[in-house]
Amino acid sequence: MKTKPKLICPICGAEYNEPVQRCSCGEPVEFELFEGEPYIGKTVWERFWDFWPVEPALELSLGEGDTPLVKSRIGKELGVKLYLKNETVNPTWSFKDRGTFLTMSYALKAGYKAVGTVSTGNMAASVSAYASRFGLDAKILVSENASDEKLRAVSVYGGDVIRVRGDYGRLYFESLKLGERLGVYFINSDNPFRVEGYKGIAFEIAEELIPDYVLIPTSSGGLFRGIAKGFIELKEIGLIEELPTLIAVQAEGCSPICRAFKEGREKIERFENPKTIAKAIANPYPPSGNAVLKLLREFGWLCVSVSDEEIIEAQRKLASEGLFVQPASATGVAALEKLTESGVISEGSNVVSILTGSGLKTLSHVEGGKIVECPLEGLENCLR
Ligand SMILES: *Cc1c(COP(=O)(O)O)cnc(C)c1O
Ligand SMILES: [Zn+2]
Repeated sequence: MKTKPKLICPICGAEYNEPVQRCSCGEPVEFELFEGEPYIGKTVWERFWDFWPVEPALELSLGEGDTPLVKSRIGKELGVKLYLKNETVNPTWSFKDRGTFLTMSYALKAGYKAVGTVSTGNMAASVSAYASRFGLDAKILVSENASDEKLRAVSVYGGDVIRVRGDYGRLYFESLKLGERLGVYFINSDNPFRVEGYKGIAFEIAEELIPDYVLIPTSSGGLFRGIAKGFIELKEIGLIEELPTLIAVQAEGCSPICRAFKEGREKIERFENPKTIAKAIANPYPPSGNAVLKLLREFGWLCVSVSDEEIIEAQRKLASEGLFVQPASATGVAALEKLTESGVISEGSNVVSILTGSGLKTLSHVEGGKIVECPLEGLENCLR
């Protein structure tokens, strides 16, 4: 761990010695590369102690990270070795907890009394839960069409949930501006500390195997950037020899990064009228979109989009193996089908797909399986 790590803008190269939220050019900032060595320890925070930008507040951890890497049957059908990184077992059932915990560790140390976020789903629940755990006030800004049911899973932790009428896209930038003025530290989707927290996914994978490909459901781009930086740091210090090929996966109905990538453009453009069942990855104007595009170009990585039908099919397949994920989290497996069929991923490859969040969060559209009605007197017949 460096005592005062620098922040660098991946797009314009500007450097900052203070923990700013974004570069003055409008793009995200990221911490310089960390170096060090892995240790023996119970948690990923301890084993990779040298690699965090701030000391993790271990006594306040809820057990985020150190998730299972499960070998999947689906790989056999497709002729590859497929492993599923099961992030649904995190404290609030998505990988967001990794980034929330690390950022909250910073906010507490920096003396903030309140934190906030802009989200309707997993990040809102995560920030709300960890704010309570850390003894900080939470200001959760949600869009006006967020359903009451979804918000109950956020407000239960005790934070202030604020429904904002108006342009949801502007809320991200507005929250950073007001947060600074009012002393509320906003932990949005690609906050630099949050992104660092996601590196743990790469570290844990590399402790078990070296994948050829990693499939990453991508919305704002924070998760993708975090996993990328994790692998890059491991390579820089010589713990791995080759970087895996990272694949950003988006839903066809909202794929601003894949579209710009395909068209060979350097900047993303707002995706008009987004429409997909994968709500957790439906950001039409991802704040880290340009930074992800740059990584894709620089390392020869890929972007793949999948249809809602392909997503639902993959969700069902995962459930038939005992893993119930939300639609956004099934996109990686959906993409794998396409990529093996087209020969982009060759037979025998080691592939990891990130199962980003639990299916219990999005029950309303799930078809479900067969339910048999049975009178007690006829139970014997029903069991045959
Ligand atoms: C947040 C989220 C993503 C995408 O992460 P980004 O950092 O926004 O790219 C993917 N899947 C689920 C379930 C999420 O909650
Ligand atoms: Zn910049």
